[in-house]
Amino acid sequence: MNYNFYPGPSKIYPQVAGYFQEAMDLGILERNHRSNAFQDLFSSTKILLKSKLNIPLNYEIVVVSSATECWEIIAQSFIRNKSYHFFNGAFGEKWADYTQKIHPETVKKPFELNENPLPHSLDKNTELLAFTHSETSNGTAISESFQKQVRAQFPDSLIAYDATSSMAGYEFDWDLGDIWYASVQKCFGLPAGMALMVVSPKAIERAKEINESEHYNSFNFILKNVQNNQTHHTPNIANVYLLNRLMQNIENISSIHQNLKERKEKFYNELLKIEKLKPLIPSSEHQSDTIFCLKGEKEFIQDLKQEAEKEGIILGNGYGQWKEITLRIANFPAIPNKHYIDLINFLYRF
Ligand SMILES: *Cc1c(COP(=O)(O)O)cnc(C)c1O
Repeated sequence: MNYNFYPGPSKIYPQVAGYFQEAMDLGILERNHRSNAFQDLFSSTKILLKSKLNIPLNYEIVVVSSATECWEIIAQSFIRNKSYHFFNGAFGEKWADYTQKIHPETVKKPFELNENPLPHSLDKNTELLAFTHSETSNGTAISESFQKQVRAQFPDSLIAYDATSSMAGYEFDWDLGDIWYASVQKCFGLPAGMALMVVSPKAIERAKEINESEHYNSFNFILKNVQNNQTHHTPNIANVYLLNRLMQNIENISSIHQNLKERKEKFYNELLKIEKLKPLIPSSEHQSDTIFCLKGEKEFIQDLKQEAEKEGIILGNGYGQWKEITLRIANFPAIPNKHYIDLINFLYRF
């Protein structure tokens, strides 16, 4: 049996194989992206996403190529001079770095693993605050109570969340952010090559005011296309189709998130019995529901990964400064509950 707990690219929902065959049979993959066939597909995909992920109807959904591209789109189209980037891991830091190349005034606000970011000292007129909702590199996440605090403190700023390893797993309170984005090869359980950006009316307004139009992926140009159910370039039609079929068939996000939370609780409870493996993030307030990051002695981690591989279990390597002493386990909805029971049993045996 094959077990894939890698946090990205990750386990793909098994039904995707059938959806792909359907797309071939329907001929949709060979249709022009300005055709009615594609426009209907795209329009129904956005409606399904809003319904299954409980996205407010007045938010807009656009498709682009990757989360990395979102970093650049946000810098180009939603920021005039300066944004504040709060991070405690590699992805948040990269987002800040890419933004800084476009806006030298970008401010970096690193914070520790077991604390909330500290936006207290910022000016109320701050243009944009950037957070990594679930930091895939170390298994931390921004809690909803903290999100509420930030929204209340900065009613006029844009708040952007990198939700690459949490969108389609977490039930978000979308109003707490203005720009949310994710590529689909992680928590969505789809093949790589596409990302979604979910954008509030306030963010759309801001992009219009800034009126940036220098790039093929300037947000205003993307938006103009999306409002006609089209895209600014030939999109990943296969992934749009797979996403559409997946959204038709999954449960509402509130039951998906509930299941992930129960699975997480069970997993961490069982983990207490394994002495040599501890969560990198001890406090549940700062732990991600979708990425488990476990730490141990370097040699133990090495041996464990080797043995897992022999048994057909793919675990995620540690990342950045935690590379040698941690391993990462995705808690994504495409992975069946049974696989976590088998994983715990493997850990006991080991
Ligand atoms: C994987 C990941 C990215 C990068 O995604 P790409 O699709 O490779 O651009 C960005 N942010 C987070 C939090 C991620 O986990």
